[in-house]
Amino acid sequence: MNDIAVIGSGPAGLSAVLYAVRAGLDTVLIDTDFLGGSQASYSEKVDNYLGIPEINGFELMEKFREHLSGKPYKQIESAVVEIKKADNEFIITLENAEVIKSKTIIYAAGAFHRKLHIAGENELSGRGVSYCAVCDGDYFEGKKAVVVGGGDTAVDSAVYLSQICSEVYLVHRRKEFRANIVSLNKLRSLLNVTVMTDAVPVSINGEKSVESITLKNTVTEEETVIHTDSVFVSIGMVPKSSVISTLVEIDQSGYIAAGEDGVTSLPGFFAAGDVRTKPLRQVVTAVSDGAVCVSSALDYISKNF
Ligand code: NAP
Repeated sequence: MNDIAVIGSGPAGLSAVLYAVRAGLDTVLIDTDFLGGSQASYSEKVDNYLGIPEINGFELMEKFREHLSGKPYKQIESAVVEIKKADNEFIITLENAEVIKSKTIIYAAGAFHRKLHIAGENELSGRGVSYCAVCDGDYFEGKKAVVVGGGDTAVDSAVYLSQICSEVYLVHRRKEFRANIVSLNKLRSLLNVTVMTDAVPVSINGEKSVESITLKNTVTEEETVIHTDSVFVSIGMVPKSSVISTLVEIDQSGYIAAGEDGVTSLPGFFAAGDVRTKPLRQVVTAVSDGAVCVSSALDYISKNF
């Protein structure tokens, strides 16, 4: 039986593997795609990971993988179809019909940004279309930004971008916002921010990079084009938690309820990275989670085996 099964090979999962093998634990890493499955792989540029001033997201993931090269752990490329806990062990059934047994699980399957699914979104992703203001806002210093969404992330993103960009538009599909009223009032007080409600994006336009966004008013059906250098899509994330949603406590948005120690409602099952409830989803916080979860898993193993 393995000591630790790490599910997910993004920054959180790879960090967990590193700490697990250093602790001498029998470790297995499971993912459907070891190259490029994680959100970090899609970042055009990462310049907020301490010690690496600037790097492409995929190259950063390559560095993480290189760090694990030759280390004593098993790697299985397959999807997890079921996880059960029987007696004191976890039984993980994979799509390839393999059954893995482990004393603990570090679940680091991540989350993906919800997409608008409109023309130009995919084509201009990384060329003005972004899903993270904190990650990419700096690239649009003194330029225009459009933020789409009406939740806390969208409002926080618009407030953040208002300090960097010359002009910011917040576009939301309804009049009522999900975002908390304090942040919303702050946003409305900012002179370089325009809030547009009852508006849905129709297309993101541009040749080599974002040049404009076309919006449709949901009441009048009238279309408007806003010239902008960037579009920040902030319409929520989708955590990859469906396979464990009946196993551990998850919050109303689908994230696994776990504190900084990664401890969940199910003893021996730890959550790391974007799939966990947390205020800031970044590579650096994911890497930290992976390390902390191994510490929690070691503590659990020492008390239960
Ligand atoms: P969210 O609360 O789910 O809000 C997503 C927003 O995007 C909603 O306003 C939704 O509109 C809109 N939306 C969804 N699909 C859309 C589409 N296809 N086209 C246009 N608009 C669309 O997501 P979130 O803002 O990322 O927040 C997630 C959780 O993290 C929340 O619980 C939030 O409170 C929390 N959070 C907290 C903080 C903080 O405390 N400072 C910061 C960030 C996030 P509708 O409203 O019409 O559904």
